[in-house]
Amino acid sequence: MKEFQSSKLLKKIMADHFLDMDRAAKEGNPKIAWCTSVGPAELLRGMGFLVYFPENHGAMLGATRMATDFIPSTNALGYSPDICSYLTCDIGSYLKKTTPLQKAYGIQSVPKPDVLVYNTNQCRDVKDWFSWYARELKVPLIGVHSFRNIGTITQYEIQDIAEQIKGLIPTLEAVSGRKFDMDRFKETVRLSRDCSRLWRATLETAAAVPSPWTFFDATIHMAPAVVARGTQEAVDYYQTLIPELKQRIADGVAAVDGERHRLYWEGMPIWGKLRPLSELLASLKTCVVASTYCNSWIFDQLDPDEPFESMGRAYTELFIVRDEAYKERYIESCHQLFKFDGILFHDAKTCPNNSNNRYGMPERLAKKLGLSTLTINGDLCDLRCYSEEQAKTQIEAFIEQLEER
Ligand code: SF4
Repeated sequence: MKEFQSSKLLKKIMADHFLDMDRAAKEGNPKIAWCTSVGPAELLRGMGFLVYFPENHGAMLGATRMATDFIPSTNALGYSPDICSYLTCDIGSYLKKTTPLQKAYGIQSVPKPDVLVYNTNQCRDVKDWFSWYARELKVPLIGVHSFRNIGTITQYEIQDIAEQIKGLIPTLEAVSGRKFDMDRFKETVRLSRDCSRLWRATLETAAAVPSPWTFFDATIHMAPAVVARGTQEAVDYYQTLIPELKQRIADGVAAVDGERHRLYWEGMPIWGKLRPLSELLASLKTCVVASTYCNSWIFDQLDPDEPFESMGRAYTELFIVRDEAYKERYIESCHQLFKFDGILFHDAKTCPNNSNNRYGMPERLAKKLGLSTLTINGDLCDLRCYSEEQAKTQIEAFIEQLEER
């Protein structure tokens, strides 16, 4: 993976994010809300909370390969090894009092929440996950119950989600001791929308041939769009990264030297294997140019003039919430933009919600788009579900097949 100059700023943003939260948790001010990754972060930030995302911690546990050590502790509480490994590794890390934040930032533990806020738009696991902490830490648990598997979205769904988001306010006021301020909320929605627009533009630089970056780079540089959306810092970050990517395009700098093949990654990242996968694909002159996963943090429907309704829309129009027909049309539109010649589906053992290979989609897309697909088995965090040797053999054979087309 080629280094980016912007990485220095990225490291600072992430360090500030965790150190500020650690300080606030110790001082009790500002209050801390835990939020699911596609939960109502704008409302929380707009009401003065610092926002912590346990899924980001799960990804850190995966990337540092600590996850597998912690999962069994949660299994022992009755949580199956087949459910979300973010959930099982994160709770296990809490039980073992060990976190990657210790080594990265000298922080002893994740920040204690004052309130836990979920949205079930992505899966039920997030509610079960937060429910465990609500019982353990005795803090309020509130959330939004979303529609799932939707084709056409109507005003009915949007309005329902908007009302549910409004319904969170009284509890949040009680926890924070502050009155809801519409102007501050609107400003946060605007910042989040601006961040989303910039994140989309960042991802779309990969439409260039050769691509200036890969999916593996994007999984790292997406962090501000995930944990800091709704802040000026996130906006500033992408205003720094985009010119660097554009300069690479202007200079003909390819993320993968001699790029011959372009792929789409469908499904969760395999956090503990980003580097080896990136190196393997680079050695095969193959660039993963786009992914459903990184695109999932584009919320450009957000509109400060209609903050609740536009949040309802943004968090309902998400790929993960939609039916198969919509998902296929979405990937088709990505194919037109990014010009990939194959799709790599990751069947993540513990995340059926983000594994789209199981109901015939690869076969339908291969036929419709005239491209090749490959499914590899693995997991986001539980590396016991992933055979590196097998994946390597499959990927090499797949690229050979692309060579022969
Ligand atoms: S979508 Fe998948 S990875 Fe994300 S929290 Fe739900 S089960 Fe876990």
